[in-house]
Amino acid sequence: MFWLDRIFGQIETELKDKIASGKTLLVRDEKTASGRVHVGSMRALVLHAAIAERLAEAGVPAVFKFEINDFDPMDGLPVYLDKAVYEKEMGKPLYTIPSPDGKAKNYAEYFGQEYVEAIHEAGFAPELYRASELYLGGKMNDAIRMALDKADVVRGIYKEVSGADRPADWYPLSVICENCGKVGTTKVSAWDGKQVTYNCYPTAVTWAVGCGHTGSVSPFDGRAKLPWKVEWAAKWFVLGVDIEGGGKDHYSKGGARDVARRVSTEVFNYPEPFGVPNEFFLVGGKKMASSKGQGASAKSIVELVPPKIFRLALFGKDINQQINFDPEGDTIPVLYDQYDKLLEHHQSGVADDYTRLFEYLHPARKVPAIKNPPRFSEVAFTVQMPHMDLAKEFPDADKAELAERAAYAKKWLAQYAPEKFVFKLQDSLPEAARALTPEQKSVLQELLRYIVVAGAMPSGEELQAKLHELKAFKAVYLAFLGKDHGPKAGWFISVLDKEFVVKRLKEASA
Ligand SMILES: [Zn+2]
Repeated sequence: MFWLDRIFGQIETELKDKIASGKTLLVRDEKTASGRVHVGSMRALVLHAAIAERLAEAGVPAVFKFEINDFDPMDGLPVYLDKAVYEKEMGKPLYTIPSPDGKAKNYAEYFGQEYVEAIHEAGFAPELYRASELYLGGKMNDAIRMALDKADVVRGIYKEVSGADRPADWYPLSVICENCGKVGTTKVSAWDGKQVTYNCYPTAVTWAVGCGHTGSVSPFDGRAKLPWKVEWAAKWFVLGVDIEGGGKDHYSKGGARDVARRVSTEVFNYPEPFGVPNEFFLVGGKKMASSKGQGASAKSIVELVPPKIFRLALFGKDINQQINFDPEGDTIPVLYDQYDKLLEHHQSGVADDYTRLFEYLHPARKVPAIKNPPRFSEVAFTVQMPHMDLAKEFPDADKAELAERAAYAKKWLAQYAPEKFVFKLQDSLPEAARALTPEQKSVLQELLRYIVVAGAMPSGEELQAKLHELKAFKAVYLAFLGKDHGPKAGWFISVLDKEFVVKRLKEASA
C-alpha cells in the first residue's frame, strides 16, 4: 500500500471522532532557523504536507501550520558566518540577532525565508507562523504558568522517562536576561505565582557566556521560554494540534517524544497528537552538515531538480525507510528513469499504488500530459556534445520536457555530476584509446569500412544496429570520448563530421 494511504487509514481510525465532528484538523511541524536549513528537514515537512494533502483529497478539513522557530537560542556558530560578529550573539533568541545580509528583519527571518523558498519551490504551501508570535503575543502564557505551577510534575517526568535528575529548585523555564539578552544562559530558581527569580550564569552552557546578572521578572509575554521538550507539548496544547510526528531520533525510548507526550497529558491535560516517526533523508550518505556550508541546504538541493523529481525522492520511499540522495552519484538519473516508468504506468490507465504515488509527485495532483519523455541520462550526454542538436537527437520527445531536462542536466553537470556522466568529445586520439586490444582494433576497422562503403554518413539507427552487430560500443567510446561507456553511440557518431570519424577510426585502429 502507498505509505501515505496507510497513514491516512491510521488517522481515520485514531481521529475518528474528531473527523466525524467536522473539526478542521491541525497538522503542525517546525524548524529552528539557526542557520542554513539542511535538506534533511524536508523529510518531516513533506510528511506533514502530504498528510494535509491526503486529508484534503478525502474531504477532511485540515490545515498545515509550519513554524519557523525564531525563539530558540543560537547554540551553534555556522562556519559560513563571521565568528567575530556572531560569537557575542550566542545564547540570544534567534529573532533578536541581526541578519547576515543586513536586510532581512533578523537572523531567523534570513535563514527561515531561504527555507520557505525551498518549500515553495518543491510545491508545498504550508501556513507559516513564528514561535516569537506565540511568546510575544502572550499565547504561551497559560502554558508557562501551568509548567511553573507543576514544576515538580515536570521534574518527575524527566526523572522517570529519561533518568535525568533535576534539583528541587529547577524550573522548566529560561528567562531572557534583562541585562545581556541571552536566554540560553539563565536558570530560574523560584516562582511566586507572579514573578520568577533567575540567574544568568557565565558557564551554564558551553556555547554561550552569561553575564552574571540576577533578577526577578514576570515570565509572560515573551520574557522567557520553555525548554524544548516541554515547549513541544505546550505548542500542541496552545495551538490545538491534532497531527504532528517527528524525526525517528526524537522517538527513541526515553527521548523527546516520550517526555513531550507525558508533559502534554500530565501538565497541560492535552492528549498527544497523532504522529508517526520519519526516517532520515541523507545526502551522499551523511545525515546533517548544516553548519558545514551550502552543499546540502534545502534550497540548493531543491533547485537541482524540478519539483516532480524532488517529490519523487521523498514520496517514492516509505516514510519508515531511509533516503539517500546523492547528487554526486547517480541518484538524479535514476530518479528520472523511475519517473518515466511511473509516467508510462500511469498513462497505461492502471489504477494501483504506483498510480497513487505518481499523482502525488505533482502539486495539487495535477498530472502533466508528457508524451515520449527523453531519457535524462541521454539528454545529459547530448548537452555536452557541441556537435549534437537536441531537437534533432530527440525528434519525437515532448518539447517542454526536453527543454526542462536539458536545463536541469546542465545545472547538474556543472555542479555535481560524477565523472561517469561527464563526457567530452576528444579533439585528438584519447590516451585511453592506446589501450585498445587487437580485437577492438579490428572491430573499428570493420566499422571504418562500413562507413566508407556507405558513401554518405549512415543514419543513427543504421549505425546503432551496426555497432550492435560488431559489439563495437566500448571501442568507439574509447576512441572518441576516452571512456569505456556512454549512451547511444550510433547517433553520436552519425552526427559527427564524416572526415573526422574516418580519421579517428584510422588512428585508433592503427
Ligand atoms: Zn545575562
